[in-house]
Amino acid sequence: MSKKPEDIIRSEIVALKAYHVPDSAGLVKLDAMENPYRLPAELQAEVAQMAGSAPLNRYPDPGAVQLKARLRTVMGIPDGMDLLLGNGSDEIIQMLTMAAARPGAVVLGLEPSFVMFRMIAAFCGVQFVGVPLKPDFSLDTGKVIAAIAEHQPALVFIAYPNNPTGNLFDEEGIRRILEAAPGMVVVDEAYHAFAGKSFMPRLADHPNLLVMRTLSKSGLAGLRLGLIAGNSAWLAHVDKVRLPYNVNVLTQTVAEKALQHHDLLGLQAAAIRAERARLYDELGRIAGIQAYPSDANFILFRAAGAERVFSGLRQRGVLIKNLHGSHPALTDCLRVTVGTPEEDTRFLAALKETVNL
Ligand SMILES: *Cc1c(COP(=O)(O)O)cnc(C)c1O
Repeated sequence: MSKKPEDIIRSEIVALKAYHVPDSAGLVKLDAMENPYRLPAELQAEVAQMAGSAPLNRYPDPGAVQLKARLRTVMGIPDGMDLLLGNGSDEIIQMLTMAAARPGAVVLGLEPSFVMFRMIAAFCGVQFVGVPLKPDFSLDTGKVIAAIAEHQPALVFIAYPNNPTGNLFDEEGIRRILEAAPGMVVVDEAYHAFAGKSFMPRLADHPNLLVMRTLSKSGLAGLRLGLIAGNSAWLAHVDKVRLPYNVNVLTQTVAEKALQHHDLLGLQAAAIRAERARLYDELGRIAGIQAYPSDANFILFRAAGAERVFSGLRQRGVLIKNLHGSHPALTDCLRVTVGTPEEDTRFLAALKETVNL
């Protein structure tokens, strides 16, 4: 007798809701923390040339030697530290979790935070323990240390700055977590370009610290390239679960070229930070909106009737992220990515109309 798919597929997978990516055609897209700026025309032409002559008939360099050398300089990876690349940092989260997925293993994260930490734990059949942040979204170090003592997590994920709340956590708190944790502690610096603070220079101080970054939020989301740096005692094992050619030829070639012009991406990040300050000020001037300070390229804000605000914005051609219902601490919360000044002005006008209805 054949069985139903639901009797074959693991029950925790059947119970999951797929990660939903909404259709954004024709909308001002401020939902996914993308950099709104394209590469400068000159660089686009160079990239086109390189893509055209890339050896697509061959498998990519499995060690991505050239790209890694470039990343080491650009990202300030300390000498002696290992570097592992992924098809986006999402894939690195998956490799870490898969490698640590012993029976009974626990992955610990903060909540609310990046949902993929929890989802990937479920994919790998590992228990996820979420420790709540304080009501102002700061780190509750005491609670995290207590949870570490109780659950002895194989892996701890800390997004720094945090998504979706936008804040950096107390450094001393993270240091205490690094000391208390029995296993790997991943500081996920996806928003590093907008933050100005990093644990990368601290890698040598903490043998269990791993620092993860991505090119996605600083202008190259379409390439899918993430990286993690840290002690080879950990990363040499994690590397064994990496699929051999996980970073394709075009990504390796184009990322290396784009990173030769790292200063241009830096200028774009600076423009986004300046625009973030304007957007935060303007949000603060709208009655009924509570905006949270941000060290990232997005702003979390609260508005009564968030569902209605979200659909009102969409009717006016602006797509942001509705977080209402995703976590009790995010009731009536919405998240807007910092766009170009023109995009943000359209968003602000649409928001004013919507909240005044
Ligand atoms: C966006 C994001 C990622 C994933 O980035 P990719 O490299 O595009 O997979 C990882 N961590 C956090 C906190 C993020 O917000």
